[in-house]
Amino acid sequence: MTNITLALGDITEQTVDAVVNAANSSLLGGGGVDGAIHRRGGPDILGECRDLRASRYGKGLPAGQAVATTAGRLPARWVIHTVGPVFSATEDRSATLASCYRESLRIADELGARTVAFPAVSTGVYRWPLDDAARIALTTVRAAGTSVDEVRFVLFDQRAYDAFATALNELPPR
Ligand code: ADP
Repeated sequence: MTNITLALGDITEQTVDAVVNAANSSLLGGGGVDGAIHRRGGPDILGECRDLRASRYGKGLPAGQAVATTAGRLPARWVIHTVGPVFSATEDRSATLASCYRESLRIADELGARTVAFPAVSTGVYRWPLDDAARIALTTVRAAGTSVDEVRFVLFDQRAYDAFATALNELPPR
């Protein structure tokens, strides 16, 4: 059974098998988590992203999908890049946000990863309200049939941590 844990901190410092990147569709880097991962992980990750872009994702990686690279200098073996949906007040994109978590875990299983660290996908530049994003993230991970032993949500500030802690408490008992 997968253990869901919460941590307050920087995702680039997590010693885990796989770190999930809140990437953008270009796969060529951005701000937030993406910027931090490429800064600390070094140029190899970006090189692999460029190759993926050229070979498989000429039009970019669509929102809701995920793809893996190695992790460069990060204390992890892989980075799983997923593209969250931009929040919309008029269109319900929660299925796409849920897909980010499901697809990332599917790739983690393919790789044989046992510990995976996720950021709060879409809650930064993509403006998804934290409480709602936390509920979607946690219910999706709880429902995913995965071989991952630990899914660790790494929250960057207390507000995000509290939102995830509340949503975790509100999950129905298994
Ligand atoms: P998105 O474009 O999917 O919204 P962002 O990277 O802008 O992605 O933000 C996603 C979440 O990650 C936000 O809650 C942001 O505060 C948080 N965040 C930013 N940097 C880090 C980091 N180094 N480690 C963990 N979380 C981070």
